[in-house]
Amino acid sequence: MRSFRHVRATTVAEACALLAEPGTRARANAGGSDLLGALKDGIYPEPPDLLVDLKTIPGLDAIEADEAGLRVGALARLADIARSEPIRAHWPIFSQAAQAVASPQIRNVATLGGNLCQEVRCWYFRYPAGLGGSIDCLRKGGPRCPAVKGDTRYHAIFEGRGCFAVCPSDTAVALAALDAIVVLEGPGGARRELPVQDVYTPLGTVLEPGELVTAVRVPPPAEEARSAFLKFTVREPIDFAVVSVAASITLRDGVCTDARLVLGAVGPRPYRALEAEARLIGGPIDERAAVEAAEVALAGAKPLRGNAYKVPLARSIVMRAILAALEG
Ligand SMILES: Cc1cc2nc3c(=O)[nH]c(=O)nc-3n(C[C@H](O)[C@H](O)[C@H](O)COP(=O)(O)OP(=O)(O)OC[C@H]3O[C@@H](n4cnc5c(N)ncnc54)[C@H](O)[C@@H]3O)c2cc1C
Ligand code: SF4
Repeated sequence: MRSFRHVRATTVAEACALLAEPGTRARANAGGSDLLGALKDGIYPEPPDLLVDLKTIPGLDAIEADEAGLRVGALARLADIARSEPIRAHWPIFSQAAQAVASPQIRNVATLGGNLCQEVRCWYFRYPAGLGGSIDCLRKGGPRCPAVKGDTRYHAIFEGRGCFAVCPSDTAVALAALDAIVVLEGPGGARRELPVQDVYTPLGTVLEPGELVTAVRVPPPAEEARSAFLKFTVREPIDFAVVSVAASITLRDGVCTDARLVLGAVGPRPYRALEAEARLIGGPIDERAAVEAAEVALAGAKPLRGNAYKVPLARSIVMRAILAALEG
């Protein structure tokens, strides 16, 4: 691993200023569970010369719930989110998604901000420099994507443009189904708020140099909302999703009045199946409605040559997530 300077920030303003320092290649370090592996493997063509430790910023790990909704600081650990009583009671799919990440050891250090901003798992992107040299690709500023003509079994079936790596974050999927807003803060006190799925682009995130995720806000749940988070993995219990689905459905007098269907690990960001949601709204929900909505959800999928299997798999998980949500 290349040597780097390490600074313990004590305020968000200090961290943002350090990250935006001209002439440095700085990166934020939260739990380090993703970043340190990436540095050890030498995957970055230009490795950072400064790591800014966020863990020393007091108060950034707070979890606060009241009638206005939920606010979770970027440094909240996934283990704390998974076991938070208010989150389990009112936003259970967020707790379930945090619990579905990796292993207890990783959840004990991994933070919400790091989970949302972690690098993709595409194996071309992650190929270690020590094994014959890292692989250049579009996401690293290179000219092309070597994956597209290679092994694409875990790559995108929606919204791939140039890069076909999928967003690996489980919490992002649940948060998108809960209409969560990500709070970003940058140098000079700049602040903006974005729906979670708008944080991602086909080649990374919209974060500007020096910008940090500082919190996530989730609106209060509708009283009649029911939800489910399902994740399909190859290996149990520690693995990234091959496909995941978060479903949130509001029923009044047996009629669906609102629906959110969000698919994970199918594209560069959590993929919201808007047409399938529209198909559910206005009618009762039974097995037939769930099957039809799942058909609609996958109708626009564009699999690559190695991942057509993801389409029927995702269809089945969407259908099961709708029915699981009904059961609460
Ligand atoms: C074996 C293994 C299995 C895993 N399985 C899963 C899984 O099933 N599902 C899943 O979702 N994830 C999984 N992960 C990924 C894991 O969730 C992430 O490593 C973790 O969430 C990152 O959090 P962190 O705080 O350690 O981030 P760090 O490693 O500190 O940072 C990760 C990246 O985010 C940036 N960053 C960190 N905090 C911020 C912030 N506040 N604002 C802006 N940028 C920031 C860093 O600069 C870095 O680029 C797995 C990881 C491992 C090693
Ligand atoms: S899919 Fe994306 S990350 Fe993977 S090799 Fe292609 S450009 Fe790079």
